[in-house]
Amino acid sequence: MVGWVWVHGGWVWFGCEGVGMLCRTFSSSSSSTQSSSSAAAAAAAAVSILRKCIALLVSCASTVPKLRQIHAFSIRRWVPLSSPDMGKHLIFALVSLSGPMPYARTVFDQIHRPNIFTWDTIIRGYAESPDPAPALDVYRQLRLSSLNPDTHTYPFVLKAIAKLNVLGEGEKVHCSALKDGLHSLTFVQNALVHLYGACGRADSAYKVFDEMPDRNNNLVAWNSVINGYALNNRPDETLMLYRKMGLEGVEPDGFTLVSLLTACAELGALALGRRAHVFLMKVGLDKNSHAANALLILYAKCGNIREARKVFDGLGEGRSVVSWTSLVVGLAVNGFGEEALELFREMEMRRVAPTEITFVGVLYACSHCGMVDEGFGYFDRMRKDYGIVPKIEHYGCMVDLLGRAGLVQQAYRYICDMPIEPNAVIWRTLLGACSLHANSSIGEIAREKLRSLDPNHCGDYVLLSNLYASERRWSDAHSVRKMMLKEGVRKVPGFSLVELGNRVHEFMMGDKSHPQTEAIYAMLSEMTRRLRVEGYMPHTSNVLADIEEEEKESALVYHSEKIAIAFVLINTAPGTQIRIVKNLRVCADCHVAIKLISKVFEREIVVRDGSRFHHFRDGTCSCKDYW
Ligand code: ZN
Ligand code: ZN
Repeated sequence: MVGWVWVHGGWVWFGCEGVGMLCRTFSSSSSSTQSSSSAAAAAAAAVSILRKCIALLVSCASTVPKLRQIHAFSIRRWVPLSSPDMGKHLIFALVSLSGPMPYARTVFDQIHRPNIFTWDTIIRGYAESPDPAPALDVYRQLRLSSLNPDTHTYPFVLKAIAKLNVLGEGEKVHCSALKDGLHSLTFVQNALVHLYGACGRADSAYKVFDEMPDRNNNLVAWNSVINGYALNNRPDETLMLYRKMGLEGVEPDGFTLVSLLTACAELGALALGRRAHVFLMKVGLDKNSHAANALLILYAKCGNIREARKVFDGLGEGRSVVSWTSLVVGLAVNGFGEEALELFREMEMRRVAPTEITFVGVLYACSHCGMVDEGFGYFDRMRKDYGIVPKIEHYGCMVDLLGRAGLVQQAYRYICDMPIEPNAVIWRTLLGACSLHANSSIGEIAREKLRSLDPNHCGDYVLLSNLYASERRWSDAHSVRKMMLKEGVRKVPGFSLVELGNRVHEFMMGDKSHPQTEAIYAMLSEMTRRLRVEGYMPHTSNVLADIEEEEKESALVYHSEKIAIAFVLINTAPGTQIRIVKNLRVCADCHVAIKLISKVFEREIVVRDGSRFHHFRDGTCSCKDYW
């Protein structure tokens, strides 16, 4: 009993070694059984063959080719696929082997009345495959059938929906689970938490999570909800939940710590991130590419590029394009443009194909180093050598490149000639360049474009007002401010974050809410006094109003980064590095002041602002006053 049989997508030879041998054994024994002519005997033989095929599927289908051989054998022995048992086992074996889903689907479509287990298996197969969309179609078909979904159906279909990132469908399935009374099962709740987290609904994820009755040994749910917050750029909540998890006695694992590292990177919480690093080393996960990339990003975002490099070097051959790209971008935003470009050249030498994000890093490096020609060279090579079509982000980098270099007119012409429609970010970049280089004629054009594209963005009013103020056009600056008030646009409040001990402290402009306020303000006065001895003159043009000079000076003293620095100065030993994360771009006055503070108080100060990193040391800044 050997030969060729057509099995989904190709001819299968059975009768060789392995499964073929087994098939032959069964077929010879069944031949003798079939010699009986009675119908009952034939039926018994058919049942026997079916059992044998199932036994083969359970014990011998260790690869897809072997499975095909067993399938071929069953076809030769007239085992009908419509038999729910045969189909069920065949699909289960295929899905367990991550076999081709079209094959599984062909089998599924031939089964007469598949049971709920088989429906679940095919949905699971799609959910775990690279193309999860059909899982949702199969689920809809199931809803139209006479069967009801069971405990397994919901987790599988929700997994597929999370992968597809279609929140609306997820909410519908959530409703059905509620109607079926299955929403409170742990498996379903875990899947819902994961779904909402993946779709950017961290609060909905938390709501489901909070209602879970037995979350204390459920690390999967903790990880999903923590990851949801981390991925959705909600670092405060991520940290809060991580602490809560500790208080409820749940031990974190590698997944938890990767989410924690993401939050620490956002907040600049280096000390907490370091503790996560130690934990990862202890459990041997620090070389895991996922964890290592999160560590690399943490150190790069905390301005500690030396540590980032160490993690990168430690990865050796395990470096992925994500690792290369993270370090290129990290070097670029930390002001090590030359090093970023050198790393990029090494990446090319090792034939690691860069991505569009790598090129954002490369162009950013050129922009912040003032390398205009090099920037244009890389921009051309992006398409020519790697087939990457430039996106709006890349055009933004080019406008920034020209604008920062003082080529404001060329930047404007570049925007007019761009093959894609410039968005608000592009015009804002130009307006920023106009503000930096005091070019109000082009600045006003950019402002007009922004008025139609994004009329209520307070940063634009601030940029324009600063532009007028830098030209001492007080009445124009004043009318911008009046317009801003009239149109109800509020300035985004500046704040600075600083990590001390186990906490991240936040300071707003003119903040007086901290328990140490008195000592902080005494230190601010001391700072101003010592800076004046060094010849510091406040840059009052950075104050958004035509208020009295004296008031402007005090407004500058209370910028949040200065308050944060005063706070660290009174709470740490001499020589300790100061690291600040500021949400907005640091103003020119604070920049001058922090340079002097680094010299007078002999502290290295790293500021990550809304635009880039500044490493202040001994009276100078790594940005070379170009930011
Ligand atoms: Zn400032
Ligand atoms: Zn700087």
